Amino acid sequence: MTAAPLLYATGLEVVFPGRRGAPPARAVDGVDLTVGAGEIVALVGESGCGKSTLARALLGLVRPTAGEVGFGGRPLGRTARALKAYRRRAQLVLQDPSGALNPRHTVYEAVAEGPRIHGGARDEGAAVAEALARAGLRPPERFFARYPYELSGGQRQRVVIAGALALEPELLVADEPVASLDASVRGEILALLLRLRDELGLSALVVTHDLGLAWNIADRVAVMYLGRIVECGPAEQVLTAPRHPYTRALLSVLPESASPAVVLTGEPPDPSRIPGGCRFHARCQILASGDADRAGVAGRCRSEDPIVLRGTGAACHWA
Ligand code: ADP
Ligand code: MG
Repeated sequence: MTAAPLLYATGLEVVFPGRRGAPPARAVDGVDLTVGAGEIVALVGESGCGKSTLARALLGLVRPTAGEVGFGGRPLGRTARALKAYRRRAQLVLQDPSGALNPRHTVYEAVAEGPRIHGGARDEGAAVAEALARAGLRPPERFFARYPYELSGGQRQRVVIAGALALEPELLVADEPVASLDASVRGEILALLLRLRDELGLSALVVTHDLGLAWNIADRVAVMYLGRIVECGPAEQVLTAPRHPYTRALLSVLPESASPAVVLTGEPPDPSRIPGGCRFHARCQILASGDADRAGVAGRCRSEDPIVLRGTGAACHWA
């Protein structure tokens, strides 16, 4: 990682107004995060914890209610022109079943769309062919006239990635890129992201609810709970020596886990009702078991919000 991160967020918040008198939803509630040049960071956490909202805010697709996002050493501009220029350098990769591909567009049209919007591939056909080849669809010309329904799930996901690559971005933000693919295909797509990092120096933020996937791909892992990053560090450290009880619980339910599965009790998290104290305390197995009490921190767990995590570590009184 270089000294200055490619992408950074500081104190980032995205609060959605509550509908019909309901309290506002603090989907992203104070996040500091960086992605370095040529680095793959996995953003993990249960469904609903705010991963997609954070990803969209990092891309300038959702306007943060507080905090700052910067890229290449400077805060994002807020003009339409600045955001358009930014969206060329940082590309969102959605999973295909969520409608990333238009069923009526050929592969060629799907991949050429970005360069057309941004005006100015020197040679459109060459740019499309190169992007398809980089995404592992070879020979690329064979795919030009195909429609999504003629392709396998893995091939469709490669077309989505090629569409992003056609703009020659510096960063990919991939939101659950393999969630709906079979295990074998999943591995191929992850290998593709690793290859793009190694060959093109491409950075990526890979959003996933699957910690096992993070293990296969990430240089660094950020664990998100109820709008906050609760643990962050090198993948090896977070996944083999997790410090936050929430990370431990997530890891304990993976099939390859050696420790007994921790079943989280309490209410599923709701960003319109964030508990006081540590936001995880009502579900925390360390607090429930008495370990936090024995360590003399239980009172703080219930009353004091752990500091916002900057860089490596765990936002937890006990850890
Ligand atoms: P994840 O990607 O981790 O599953 P999301 O970022 O999609 O989580 O959602 C986080 C929370 O924000 C959820 O409680 C969701 O209901 C809420 N949310 C997301 N988008 C909106 C929106 N446009 N308006 C109101 N609430 C939203
Ligand atoms: Mg999501």
